[in-house]
Amino acid sequence: MLRPLHEQWMRRALSVASASPEDVPVGAVVYAADGTELAAAGNERELTGDPTAHAEVIALRRAAARTGSWRLDGCTLVVTLEPCTMCAGALVLARVSRLVFGAWEPKTGAVGSLWDVVRDRRLNHRPEVYAGILETECAALLRDFFRPS
Ligand SMILES: [Zn+2]
Repeated sequence: MLRPLHEQWMRRALSVASASPEDVPVGAVVYAADGTELAAAGNERELTGDPTAHAEVIALRRAAARTGSWRLDGCTLVVTLEPCTMCAGALVLARVSRLVFGAWEPKTGAVGSLWDVVRDRRLNHRPEVYAGILETECAALLRDFFRPS
């Protein structure tokens, strides 16, 4: 039931991942509890020179601006790559209910690879996690970006 929806959402995240051609292609989308798209973003670190301008942080900020609340209860964050510590922390602070991600990030991942920030029992909010959605497509996008041409 959920998988086709998550794949559809991941395709949307993939479609915004390369919005800034200089940036590492990662895309993030926030969906409301009723499935409405609230915000979408790609990485903008190179574009803006902002070290915190990861796709997830930008999408969370835009979703909060749109709803008028920092609390994103009931929302789902969909992202093409396993979030880093900053983004995992941000989505916990935003009270996002579900995280759906594509490719694993063994070097910096904070949703099971290096750390598991979103399921740390010491925190009072732990989102549901769905990993590996369209993993092959999400990983290929990154591999092509880093491939020397
Ligand atoms: Zn991040």
